[in-house]
Amino acid sequence: MSRLGVVFGGSCGIGRAVSQLLALKGHRVAVISRNQEAAQATVDTLSGADHMGLACDVTQEQEVQRTFKTITKTCGPVGYLVNAAGIYRNALSMSKPNDTVSVFHTNLLGSMLTCWAGSQSMHTNGGAIVNIGSVVGLNCNADQSLYSISKASLKGFTRSLATEVASRNIRVNMVAPGFIRTDMTAELNEDEHRKRIPLGRFGDPVEAAHAVLFLLESPYITGHVMSVDGGLHLTM
Ligand code: NDP
Repeated sequence: MSRLGVVFGGSCGIGRAVSQLLALKGHRVAVISRNQEAAQATVDTLSGADHMGLACDVTQEQEVQRTFKTITKTCGPVGYLVNAAGIYRNALSMSKPNDTVSVFHTNLLGSMLTCWAGSQSMHTNGGAIVNIGSVVGLNCNADQSLYSISKASLKGFTRSLATEVASRNIRVNMVAPGFIRTDMTAELNEDEHRKRIPLGRFGDPVEAAHAVLFLLESPYITGHVMSVDGGLHLTM
């Protein structure tokens, strides 16, 4: 059955790959990022018609509410929600307040806001949500404290929300990537890191996207965290 999929952070990286896979499977997709042109550029790569590209900053509650209103007015209730909007700051526990605020607001609060608005739109027909966490939210890593806390908290939120909305047939899961080749990791030297990864390489965005699609389309899985990291979580 074709559903409406809303992908935050869909303008590049993992979110773009998810949008492309959803469209390939015949779903209608709303691609969202702060930059409308970038979101539209992803839409232009999607197979099928009737997709849309919208601008929304996930840290702004009113923008998130307005975006869901626009989408549901045009396309009806949301079936799938994917939260791939995220930022990374290389920062210690004792970081500057500005970094703390932006990382927590985007990675944690932003996904909470979209989950709240998105799950309301799923109340009648059910639906599925996938939040993108991180291997460092499951384990720890030197110098990544802020990012790690934001993703660990998002994992807690994902599992709690799963219990709260299950009676409405809304499922909530998480994909926890390791190193995936996107703009976020563009400055990393893959050769320096591959020794730590049992499968010996970074992943491609489409490999993370397949896990997202699997969780969206698995009717009896909720509250699950799926690592997509080439085995990195085993060695950290
Ligand atoms: P990218 O940097 O390639 O893409 C991030 C996306 O998020 C962009 O579409 C960006 O668009 C959007 N975005 C950022 N801030 C906001 C905001 N405030 N409001 C709305 N959209 C926003 O990242 P990846 O694809 O690599 O990462 C996707 C997710 O996966 C993130 O949550 C990241 O933390 C996580 N992850 C990634 C890993 C990797 O190795 N790549 C590893 C582990 C986790 P715009 O700037 O136009 O708003």
